[in-house]
Amino acid sequence: MKITRLDYYDKFKCIADRCTDSCCIGWEIDIDPETLAIYQKEEGELGEKLKMNIHNGSFILTEDERCPFLQTDGLCELICRKGDGFLCEICREHPRYYEYCDDHIDMGVGLCCEEACRLLFSEKHPLELITEGEGKLDEDTLELLTLRAELIKKVQDASNSLDELFFSLDKNIFQFWDAFEPYDDRWSITTEHIKECFDRLVAKQAEFDAYMKKRSCEYRHLAVYLLHRYFMRSQYCAPSVILRGISLYMKTQYLWDLYVYHTTGKFDSADRIDTAKYISKQIEYSEENIDMLFYGA
Ligand code: SF4
Repeated sequence: MKITRLDYYDKFKCIADRCTDSCCIGWEIDIDPETLAIYQKEEGELGEKLKMNIHNGSFILTEDERCPFLQTDGLCELICRKGDGFLCEICREHPRYYEYCDDHIDMGVGLCCEEACRLLFSEKHPLELITEGEGKLDEDTLELLTLRAELIKKVQDASNSLDELFFSLDKNIFQFWDAFEPYDDRWSITTEHIKECFDRLVAKQAEFDAYMKKRSCEYRHLAVYLLHRYFMRSQYCAPSVILRGISLYMKTQYLWDLYVYHTTGKFDSADRIDTAKYISKQIEYSEENIDMLFYGA
């Protein structure tokens, strides 16, 4: 098996209580059967607490949708008491992703996590793909990997403008936005505001691009992340289908960023992490929305 990761992957470490956005809030946490069996055998006070807080193989969330083991200091009680190895698979793996193609895996950290965003956007050099492992890949996979490497090179070449591919704005994007399942109210409220002031946003584009000039590599990094994460899905459809979806994602991100700049007069690195994390949660962590992005509307 060959595994490809982006070069910053190895720097990732959950920042736990320093995170403003614990990922244990608001998600259903299914416990894998192996870990569930371990939890059921746990004895003593912790064993009792586990039994009382698990139903049908999932943690019973509190009224405010927190995991019952998420402490008020933002740390996980299970890690504090038993170490990382005691976690169920989903908690141990989050926010990592694995995309499979033949005997090849793309492995990375998803942007729903603010630390993953911080690492991606703070990179000052062009990102590199690192491939390790053994395995013989079929010709189709090798062809796709070669095509992806060429696209990544093109996207990272500062002499290539990304405007046409990612930032030429038109209202057609709204039909995708309307079809998405909203992650929360912020999606519906902000998309309505963006629609209302779309013409003013387009008029502001040149000013925003000048403001972002020194940080334009952030969009190149995002494009590389998306190519790494999704391009190999071209094993199931034409590469143009996946590229169109990536372009829609980039346009969505860019319009949201432009909207923040339009309404606040700034777009700093905290705004960058906030919007990237939000768009990722909205699109990437719903299979329906990902299908809509690539194959819908
Ligand atoms: S969002 Fe990322 S940094 Fe924050 S608690 Fe989750 S994994 Fe850790």
